[in-house]
Amino acid sequence: MENESEGDVMQFLRENRAFLALLIPFMAIPWITIGDFHLLLFNFPHDRLELFGFAYEMNTYALIGTFILITVGVVLIFALSLSRFYCGRLCPNTFFAHLLTLFGKKKNPLLSKVIGLSILTALASMLAFSVVAYGVSTDELILAIAHLSFAGWAVITLSLLMITEVYMVQGWYCAYLCPYGATCAILPTDDRLSYQFSDPAGDCTECGGCVKICPIPNLDIRQGFDPRCIQCGLCEEACHKTFAKHPTIETLISHEQRPILQSGGKGIGYTIAIFLIIACIGLGTFYLIQDDRLESCRLENQNLYETNQRIKI
Ligand code: SF4
Ligand code: SF4
Repeated sequence: MENESEGDVMQFLRENRAFLALLIPFMAIPWITIGDFHLLLFNFPHDRLELFGFAYEMNTYALIGTFILITVGVVLIFALSLSRFYCGRLCPNTFFAHLLTLFGKKKNPLLSKVIGLSILTALASMLAFSVVAYGVSTDELILAIAHLSFAGWAVITLSLLMITEVYMVQGWYCAYLCPYGATCAILPTDDRLSYQFSDPAGDCTECGGCVKICPIPNLDIRQGFDPRCIQCGLCEEACHKTFAKHPTIETLISHEQRPILQSGGKGIGYTIAIFLIIACIGLGTFYLIQDDRLESCRLENQNLYETNQRIKI
């Protein structure tokens, strides 16, 4: 029993290693400062973008515009290169769903379920804090939480939304509401899904395990390509368990291993992704190096430098 639990935990860590590897830098970036400014901060309270230790003065609308531009660029690049691989391996939503599967199994005692909920709450709160900390500096955000001001409420609301969503509407959200999923679904790459059902000898036992475990409503991988599939791999695991004692068959559902940048399709996605990266960098650089913006950047840094000098004296 203990060995089985250890096996489940190891499998969980193996399957979510890509998410965990990205989570650490994502949560660390808001805390990193270079000189007087952050590595990356859309500093809404002070109307400036802090990037690589420099501050660029911007009004709130320009900050929102830059934020939207970067977000859309990143979503398109991910959708064209990683496609649904992001959903199954990098999305916090799927990670939380796997976490609950691990702790919430029917055979698990109540204590295990409570531990699962506590870990989920802690992780969701940390993630919500990190998301908001890209818009308000970490020092100010801690104060905002302590005084329950707007940014503090944003962290609390985001945490509660994440927890509720995972418990109540996870698969439904992925299938019908997620903007990233919608972007992936309309992209014209047919080979972007790598999980497939293959049963040439008619060995399927019709146990329904793959359909029952699938988080997406009414998705039956045996019926073929469905753009809503989030590539989570739970159906493959379920089928694997069905044939656990079979002498020759391991599973009827399998996935193709692909290089990460081609996981969303083998040809066009990769090319367009590179094009978009170059376009976004070009556009961003053009915007930031305009003369008046550079001047305001110099003034901003100069003012702060002089203030610091006065404080030291
Ligand atoms: S079909 Fe399989 S891989 Fe796709 S969402 Fe359902 S369980 Fe996950
Ligand atoms: S889990 Fe495997 S054996 Fe069971 S219905 Fe799905 S494909 Fe068939």
